[in-house]
Formats: sequence, C-alpha cells, structure tokens
Amino acid sequence: QAKSDGRATYRYFSDEMTSRARERIEVETRLRRAVAAGQLVLYFQPQVDIASGCIVGAEALVRWNDPDEGLIPPARFIPVAEATGVIGEIGDWVLVEACRQGQRWRDEGLPPLTLAVNVSPRQFLLGDMVGRIAEVLEETGFPAQNLELEVTEGALMEREQDGLQALRRLRALGARIAIDDFGTGYSSLAYLKRFPLDVLKIDRSFITGLPDDADDVAISATIIAMGHSLGVEVLAEGVETPEQLAFLRGKGCDRFQGYLCSRPVPAGEFAALLRANVQQFRVAAVP
Ligand code: C2E
Ligand code: MG
Ligand code: MG
Ligand code: MG
Repeated sequence: QAKSDGRATYRYFSDEMTSRARERIEVETRLRRAVAAGQLVLYFQPQVDIASGCIVGAEALVRWNDPDEGLIPPARFIPVAEATGVIGEIGDWVLVEACRQGQRWRDEGLPPLTLAVNVSPRQFLLGDMVGRIAEVLEETGFPAQNLELEVTEGALMEREQDGLQALRRLRALGARIAIDDFGTGYSSLAYLKRFPLDVLKIDRSFITGLPDDADDVAISATIIAMGHSLGVEVLAEGVETPEQLAFLRGKGCDRFQGYLCSRPVPAGEFAALLRANVQQFRVAAVP
C-alpha cells in the first residue's frame, strides 16, 4: 500500500516536473520572440525629492505587451527570463531604451533626471555588463551621472569579489548604484561598508505599516539613519499615503517612489508629469 502510494507520488511529481519544464521552454520561446518582435515596453515611475517635492527621477520598469494577453507584468516573466538566460536580451533592451528615452527628454529640454534601471543578478554577474553599459552610454549620449543601476543584495552576496569589481568599474564610469529591496535579502551589514553605494531603497514591505506599525517604524527609521551615517541617500519604495510620506519626511528620508505620486506610466505620460512638475509633495496635507 505504502509502496504504491510512493510510486503514485513519484509519478505525480515527475509529470508535474515535465509539464513545468515544458511550460518553461514554451515561455522561453515566446519571450525570445517577444523581444525580437518589439513587444517589450518601458514604463516609468516618478521618484520624488522629499525636501523639494519635485520629481527628480524615474525607475524604468519593463512590461511585455503580448498581442493576445495584453500587458504582462514583470513578475510573470522576469523569473523565467532569469532562469533561461533570456534576461540578457531583455536587460540589454531595457538599458538601451531607458538611455535613449532619457537622452530624448534631455534633448526636449525637460528638467534633468536620474533614470534607475534594474539589473538582474544573472545579468550583473555574467558577461561584461559594465563594458556594455559604457557602450550604451556612449552610443546614446546619456550621461553616466544620470544613470542609476539597481542591484539586489542577493546579487552582491552571491559572488562578492566579482560584484565588488563590477560596482567599482560602474562608479569609475560615473554611474550611480542603488541597492533595491533593501532589507529583504540575506542582508549583511558588512557589505554596506565594503561596496561603493549611492542609494538604499527601503523595500515596500517596511513602508506599508507606517506610521502605526512599531516594527516598520523602527526598521525604516534605522535604515534612514544608518544610510545617512554611511553617506548614502535613502529612497522609500511603495509610498501610498500622505501619512507614510509625512513620517519619512520627519526622519529625513531623501526620495520616495509610490502610488501617492504615480503608478508606473508610459513615457509620454511621464513626460507630462514632468512638465507639470509643481512641487506637489512639498507640503503634502496630512488629515
Ligand atoms: P522593483 O524594482 O522593486 O520595482 C518596484 C515595484 O513596485 C514595481 O512593480 C512597481 O510598480 C511597484 N510599486 C511601486 N510603487 C508602488 C506602490 O505604491 N504600491 C504598490 N503596491 N506597488 C508599487 P513592477 O513594475 O510590477 O515590477 C516588479 C519587479 O520586477 C521589480 O521590482 C523588479 O524587481 C522587476 N523588474 C521590473 N522591470 C525590470 C527590468 O527591466 N529588469 C529586471 N531585471 N527586473 C525588472
Ligand atoms: Mg527596482
Ligand atoms: Mg524595489
Ligand atoms: Mg520590490
């Protein structure tokens, strides 16, 4: 009885694995075609300087505009892209598109912007990422100083020496480095000392409970204070309410990003937000 149960379970898993593997290959094929067919789209989410209330930058966030399914969020294809290596093509497309768009906005005379681009762990550690970034900056004319690369803690910890080397070369180019989702990875405070960093992005999960949740209050206030004593800027992700913003302002947080200002929007809509950049968050009303 037990034996046949075991075999049934084994067969179940085996079937499941096969279908998962098949699904992965199918998604991989569709993804490669999507990149080649120009079905990727970049959205931009404003980053606001908390002291001035002005939009000073944007995070570029990729979407897949599938003709049948419509707009597919990155959570549904970035993991597969990571696992299969398609992330190389996607990451390259995102980098080129972000720098091109950034340069276009400069040409149109829009206020100076920092554009943040997500770099996946695999992209970060494989190939000559820094060399490619230098090439794209050169080709597009977008200034390195205005490019911020978002890396996760995991990517840095995985191959520490390579990570450190890559960050140093990025810094030498003049680009900025942000740690994304800060506090959620296998954090080691030691790497804050070792790695050359410009920005810590406090993960949204620590912002959600502000200003009432005592743990979120303690964690976010600590990250802000620690960042500042280490000489790096601190950005809060996922700010949705004026109360959260008021708390962060009180703690001296430098920038925020979140639905309170805007969801990620297509380039045209972002340019409109930027043109109407009216310091709307300078004295955000707290009811
Ligand atoms: P992330 O880099 O941490 O990006 C922030 C995510 O939080 C975005 O989701 C954004 O839409 C969402 N968000 C921003 N403000 C708020 C808010 O106020 N409330 C809530 N509930 N959510 C908010 P999105 O665009 O779905 O991206 C998810 C993740 O996919 C990103 O997390 C990033 O890890 C990855 N991703 C997106 N674009 C790229 C890319 O070009 N390359 C790579 N490697 N990864 C990307
Ligand atoms: Mg990010
Ligand atoms: Mg993040
Ligand atoms: Mg996140």
